[in-house]
Amino acid sequence: MGKRGVVIALGGNAILRHRETGTAEEQAANVRRASHEIAGIVGEGYAVVITHGNGPQVGDILLKNEMAKDVLPPMPLDVCGAESQGMIGYLLQQSMQEALTAAGIGCPVATVLTQTLVAGDDPAFENPTKPIGPFYTAMQARRLQEEMGWRMVQIPRQGYRRVVPSPRPIALMEGEAILRLFLAGVIVIAAGGGGVPVVAKPGSMLRGVEAVVDKDYTAALLARLVGAIDLLILTDVERVAVNYGRPGQQDIHEMTVAEARDHLAAGQFPPGSMGPKIESAIDFLEAGGERAIIASLEQASLALSGRAGTLIHR
Ligand code: ADP
Ligand code: MG
Repeated sequence: MGKRGVVIALGGNAILRHRETGTAEEQAANVRRASHEIAGIVGEGYAVVITHGNGPQVGDILLKNEMAKDVLPPMPLDVCGAESQGMIGYLLQQSMQEALTAAGIGCPVATVLTQTLVAGDDPAFENPTKPIGPFYTAMQARRLQEEMGWRMVQIPRQGYRRVVPSPRPIALMEGEAILRLFLAGVIVIAAGGGGVPVVAKPGSMLRGVEAVVDKDYTAALLARLVGAIDLLILTDVERVAVNYGRPGQQDIHEMTVAEARDHLAAGQFPPGSMGPKIESAIDFLEAGGERAIIASLEQASLALSGRAGTLIHR
């Protein structure tokens, strides 16, 4: 009998936690925690694909580029995204291998550096919404807008930040490689940070674009690619809630696609954070998936056994 496939999406914030300084040791410790949970899930007989966010990490890479720009030319956003896939993939690969060995499981692990195809005419390119990188003063922001053509937004009390488009993923360019590895029993780490967004040019040339894809949307694509039964989205809250952060907040233990859609339409799940997770869950379930679960990293295997998190089903 084939194993039950699960795509596990790790939140970028769950790896580099708020208020931490971001040392290699801290990130490795958080990744180790995640790997321990995931190894447990593998031990229960699941075939696992791992994907992850990269917001805090790519933010740090951009800041380093910015600070060193008088010495070394800054790299474009697509290259920074690829760097972050390599960095997080490396940390995950090493600690997954360690956790699997400790659990007595012999299973190979590999990271596939992934390019995500987006449409050059995606409406997101007309309306950049995703803040990335460091905060700037009003004067710096004006200069960057003029010299680099960056779109900047003012964030109350914190300064200015660059915003980039967040187009929808269409396909994974390394999809075939990911699928073959998965079918051969490899634990694949793929499409980190949503993958590097690329557009197709005439003659099947690919070109990286200055944009970011939300990893939750790509997670749903990955799940469909490998025919996963479950989609497990791990973040820094234990459950999805209605009236989140407001009076009358109420955790949701379970909801149907129809209920999720209603809450989404009522504005309960903001774009850029919980919204993409819920939309991906809905997409995944409508494409034939059985369970979409949103839970905290610490409760990953509990959530998969139905004892934690928010379960969304048809
Ligand atoms: P990740 O890196 O895991 O994708 P995000 O910040 O994008 O993390 O999304 C998770 C965040 O969504 C939570 O930390 C929480 O602050 C926020 N959030 C917004 N709306 C809700 C909601 N209705 N229920 C739970 N969390 C919510
Ligand atoms: Mg997110």
